[in-house]
Amino acid sequence: MSDYNRCSSPSELKITDMRFVDIVDAPMNCTIVRIDTNQGISGYGEIRDFSNKFYALQLKRLILGENPCNINKIFGKIKQFGYHGRQGGGVSGIEIALWDLAGKAYGVPVYQMLGGKSRENVRIYCDTDVDGKHSGKDMGRALKERMDKGFTFLKMDLGIDLLLDVENSINAPLGIVDKMKSFSQQELSFGITNKQFADFMNKPHSLTGISINENGLDYLENYLKEVRDIIGYEIPLAIDHIGHCNFQSIVKLAERIEKYNIAWMEDCIPWMHTNLWRELANKVNIPLCTGEDIYLADNFVELFESGSIHIIHPDVLTIGGISEVLKVTHTADKYGIATAVHMAETPIGCMAAAHASTAMNDTFLAMEFHSNDVPWWDSMVKDSKENIVQNGYITLTDKPGLGIDDLDDEVLKEHINPDRPGMWEDTSQWDNEWVHDRIWS
Ligand SMILES: [Mg+2]
Repeated sequence: MSDYNRCSSPSELKITDMRFVDIVDAPMNCTIVRIDTNQGISGYGEIRDFSNKFYALQLKRLILGENPCNINKIFGKIKQFGYHGRQGGGVSGIEIALWDLAGKAYGVPVYQMLGGKSRENVRIYCDTDVDGKHSGKDMGRALKERMDKGFTFLKMDLGIDLLLDVENSINAPLGIVDKMKSFSQQELSFGITNKQFADFMNKPHSLTGISINENGLDYLENYLKEVRDIIGYEIPLAIDHIGHCNFQSIVKLAERIEKYNIAWMEDCIPWMHTNLWRELANKVNIPLCTGEDIYLADNFVELFESGSIHIIHPDVLTIGGISEVLKVTHTADKYGIATAVHMAETPIGCMAAAHASTAMNDTFLAMEFHSNDVPWWDSMVKDSKENIVQNGYITLTDKPGLGIDDLDDEVLKEHINPDRPGMWEDTSQWDNEWVHDRIWS
C-alpha cells in the first residue's frame, strides 16, 4: 500500500478486495474503506460520519474484478444503491477510493484528473461545536483561537441546545425539555442516538411543537453578541444546529441575529421541505444553506429552482462522491449559488473534499474542517510530517491519487470503535451475494 506501483499497468488493474476500519471521536464516528487490487495498489475511501460499512459491503459483489480506473462505469453500476444522508455513504466511499486508485495507477493527483487546479489553496472554514462552551464569551474565545491559527472563515452552533438550562426559554410539550437534557450535545445536534426518545429527535423540526420564547431569543442574541464582541465583525461567521423548533422561531431568531452579519444559517429546516425554504427566504435577511444530506447532484435542482437557498453544502461522502460534487456546482453556477463543501471526517474524506474543491468552479466559497480540536487527527496518515490544514488553508501537492499513501494502523487502533472492533478484516462472505438488480421488468 505505501509503495504504490508507479510501474503498474492501469489497463490490467482489477479490484480484488474491500476492507474496513471503524474509528471514533475524530470527532465523529468514521468508517474508512480500503479497496485492494491485483497489482498491490490500494485506494482509500470513507463512508460518511455515523454511517455503516454495510452500505459499501452490499456493493462488493458489483465491483470485484472491475478495473477501478473505469470510475464512470462502476458508478453507473452502484449509483442506484445510494440514498440521502448516511445511506449515500457506501456509493460515495467507493467512488472516492476509485479516484484514489486511478490516480495512483497513472501517477497523477485526483485534481489533475478533474481538469486541474482552479485555485492554489483551498480556503477552510473552521466549525466549532457548543460542547463545553457555556457562554458566548467561551465560544468567542474558542473562535478567536481559530483566527489566531490563520482561519479566515468560521462557523459555530447556535441553537436550542444552549437553552435547556435557561429558565422560560423554550416552549415545548411538558416533559420534552427534561428528556432532551438526558442527551449529549452531539446527540442533540445530530439526532444520532440509539436511546429511547430517538423517534422524537428524528422528527422534522417543524413537527416537534417546540418554539423559542422571548427569553430564549434574548439569550441566543446575547450569546452571539458576546461572540462578535470578541471576534469582531470582519470575519464571516456561519451558524448551524439551530435545532428542533418551529418555523416561526427560526424567523424570529433570524430577525434578532441579522445585525451580527451571519454568513449563512444552515439546515434550519430539513432540506426536502422546499416550500418552507422558499417561505423562509422571503422572510429573513440571512443567506440560507443546505445540502449536506442530499444524494446526487440532480436532487439539488428543486431547491435551485425554488430560489430559496443561497449556498449549497454538499458532502462528498453523501452526494455520491467527487464527480457528483463537481456536477452540482455546474448547476449552482447557473443559478448564482455558492458552494461550501461540508466535511467532518478523517483525512481520507478531507482529501477527497480538498481535491474536489481545488478543481471546482468559481462557486467555491470554503470547505469545512471539523477536527481542529482533535490532536491526533493528522497522525492517522502514516509518516505525516505536516498537518493537512495549515494556516487556514489546504494546499495540495503533486502526490498521486488523494495524496495519502497509507494510514497509520497503530494510530487507528488507538481509536477503534469499541462497538465495531477489528481492522481491515476479511469480507469474503460478501463476494458471492447475488441479486437481480434490474429495477424494471
Ligand atoms: Mg451542518
